Amino acid sequence: MAFPDWTEEHAAFRDAVRRFVAKEIRPNAERWQAEGYFPDDLFPKAGALGLLGIRFDPKWGGGGLDFWYTVILVDELAKGRDIGCVVGLLVQCEMATSVIHAHGTDELRSEWLVPAIRGERIAALGVTEPSGGSDVAAIRTSAKVEGDDYVIRGSKIFISNGVRADFVTLAVRTGGPGADGVSLIVCPTDAKGFSVGRRLKKVDLHSSDTAELFFDDVRVPRRYLVGEEGRGFRYIARAFQGERLVLATMINSVCRDVLDETLAYLVERKAFGRSIASMQVWRHRMADLMTELEASELLTYKAADDLCAQAPGAEVSVSMAKLYAAELIRRLVLDCAQAHGGYGFMEEYYVARCARGVQNWGVGAGTTEIMREIIAGRRMTAAGT
Ligand SMILES: Cc1cc2nc3c(=O)[nH]c(=O)nc-3n(C[C@H](O)[C@H](O)[C@H](O)COP(=O)(O)OP(=O)(O)OC[C@H]3O[C@@H](n4cnc5c(N)ncnc54)[C@H](O)[C@@H]3O)c2cc1C
Repeated sequence: MAFPDWTEEHAAFRDAVRRFVAKEIRPNAERWQAEGYFPDDLFPKAGALGLLGIRFDPKWGGGGLDFWYTVILVDELAKGRDIGCVVGLLVQCEMATSVIHAHGTDELRSEWLVPAIRGERIAALGVTEPSGGSDVAAIRTSAKVEGDDYVIRGSKIFISNGVRADFVTLAVRTGGPGADGVSLIVCPTDAKGFSVGRRLKKVDLHSSDTAELFFDDVRVPRRYLVGEEGRGFRYIARAFQGERLVLATMINSVCRDVLDETLAYLVERKAFGRSIASMQVWRHRMADLMTELEASELLTYKAADDLCAQAPGAEVSVSMAKLYAAELIRRLVLDCAQAHGGYGFMEEYYVARCARGVQNWGVGAGTTEIMREIIAGRRMTAAGT
């Protein structure tokens, strides 16, 4: 059996996503980045094709499919060459809504998940705070019960879709210190006391809006609690598996795109009367990158397989896939930019644009250091060290 075991259904789904990307994203990518925003109507367009809830229960408008379809979706979206816009879409369909799907009440799902799947309401995930993002158990934004409401006080930073969101799936402290005091609450952004601070200026992903959010005694009904009080940390930790796999897939896709383009460039480009592709130093460097990218893809597929099977070691597989891909893309993109000579520094070349933001892949959805902590923590403890 070929691994992964792609079927005709997978191929048909890939074709549909590819057509969407070719029509809606790729022709606009450079303009959206220059303008610093992608249009909100991309959400309902993606929703109409069923791309914003492919793994969710059909009862809520989802596709009822497995993670392999997410792998295909992400792989193709990334080929649109506007990663900022892809991040916005994936926050919508993965990061901010998967916990509502998994743990929310039916009432919460009807009110927030269903319109999010249709792309009619835009979602953000609010976990990171100015005091830190890696240590989720230490968040400070509080939600205190007053009558039928929670009253939320605090702030969040680096929140994707933060400017345009209609609601934020928000990590808050409802109990004492540590992981057991963390809960998740849906916070509508038209609630009194909610405000968007600065729209943060990033060195890359310009079309996505990344913002500071402030909560100044924001009242939300208690029924907006996601799942049980005090279980938010566990919900986030579980959802991070999917998020990290999405990131690893996106990285591999960008790497494949950049590498393919570079290989073609090296064949065409000549120096000292011969093609650069004939020079051993570049042949070997490209051979190494081709090998490492294939290893990264297979590691990501293994993690997807483990996640679909809910294998006990899935968390480690996913962390390894994210770690490996995030480390690979730094070398790959910088080597490919170098192979382009001066063109590798020109805005019009995709490889140059990728090089600008390459460090960010090791930060989002858990840094590479946190990935190493998870891998070592699980495996070395298991080995009794
Ligand atoms: C473009 C972008 C979009 C984002 N979107 C969102 C979003 O939508 N929602 C959201 O909630 N967050 C979002 N984030 C935030 C992101 O998740 C955090 O930046 C990330 O989790 C790291 O947190 P931090 O920046 O506070 O770094 P810190 O946690 O302060 O870490 C600083 C450094 O210390 C290292 N470190 C921390 N703990 C350890 C340890 N135990 N061992 C070794 N090293 C350690 C880290 O690896 C890092 O190198 C986004 C960030 C970016 C850049």
